[in-house]
Amino acid sequence: MSLETLGWGPDFDLALSQSQPSSTPSLVPGRVVRQQRGLLTVQTQGAAFLARAAGRLRHQAVDAEALPTVGDWVLLQPPASGDGEALMHVVLPRRSVLKRREAGSEHDGQLIAANVDVVFLVVGLDGNFNARRIERALTVAWNSGATPVVILSKADLASDADERVREVEALAPGVDVLAVSARTGLGVEAVRARIPAAKTGVLLGSSGVGKSTLANRLLDAARLVTQPVRPEDDKGRHTTTHRELFVLEHGGLIIDGPGMRELGLLGGEDEGLASAFADLFTLAEGCRFNDCGHQAEPGCAVMAAVQAGTLSEERRASFAKLQREQAFQHRQADANAQRQHKRMQRTQSNAGWARTRAKRRGE
Ligand code: GDP
Ligand code: ZN
Repeated sequence: MSLETLGWGPDFDLALSQSQPSSTPSLVPGRVVRQQRGLLTVQTQGAAFLARAAGRLRHQAVDAEALPTVGDWVLLQPPASGDGEALMHVVLPRRSVLKRREAGSEHDGQLIAANVDVVFLVVGLDGNFNARRIERALTVAWNSGATPVVILSKADLASDADERVREVEALAPGVDVLAVSARTGLGVEAVRARIPAAKTGVLLGSSGVGKSTLANRLLDAARLVTQPVRPEDDKGRHTTTHRELFVLEHGGLIIDGPGMRELGLLGGEDEGLASAFADLFTLAEGCRFNDCGHQAEPGCAVMAAVQAGTLSEERRASFAKLQREQAFQHRQADANAQRQHKRMQRTQSNAGWARTRAKRRGE
């Protein structure tokens, strides 16, 4: 796999010539294509390696943000033996960096991805979109160094999609706004066109706006294409805990994974929301049912507080909504995990069959 296929550009040539330490001339460039918990996989021109940061890189790092993340270009020393770990010595200067901002936390933020060219902000046309929220999200995207593109999703559900495209265009001059339906395929080509060969995109947006559905549509044909990116000894590739860079069929790249879609990615707003309801989460522990919807359930501690006049009805309603959204998210995560488990089993049994057949043929 060539470095260009992975998104290498002339800007990195320059960075490379300036970053290659003279003391260790054997370093090779590669891109971090996968992150599973602390474990990184780096794809170089020749091979993919599991990799970790060399001691010096770790010690010189002023904070966690200086350490490699998915999408980063690094210079590494390949392992001496076939199955060892590569050592990353240098992180090349980033074109852009996306991080999760943690509201009220002492951390600067957790790195999500680097060298992203296009941030797709996905907003559902089925809901009421909030103009201020879009503006804020656009600011975050521009600040990351990437170019934002707004996707108004579920266009098949809106009769006024064109009108709303113009509305968002008006509030975001110079930003492309696309009406897209992952269900009918409308606008999906336009999404692909925004990440031409060697350009890297990510999908961001609140839960339920259709990111997974769109990602699956973009990725389906890509699974095979990225096969060589994976290290051979990699067995856990269908778990839900990793972020990964995929090469799409048309050559564009997309970084995807649960971390990319989490609440709060766009500035800690949703996390802030959750913390604004901290007292109600505590109160709800007193509800009789674990899955209480705080509407009409018997023994609901939240309703009781409304009746007692210590909690406003609006706050109860917002809280119930937030919990519904979270429950929905968890159910979806579970369903995904199950699907992936099944797929893995299938792959494994296919491999088993191939072995059995080969044995019968005396191979
Ligand atoms: P995510 O949380 O942003 O990843 O959203 P999902 O992709 O899980 O979608 C949330 C819900 O919206 C699911 O029930 C999808 O079937 C539905 N959905 C996603 N894309 C579309 C679309 O283009 N049209 C319609 N009508 N529904 C969609
Ligand atoms: Zn309740």
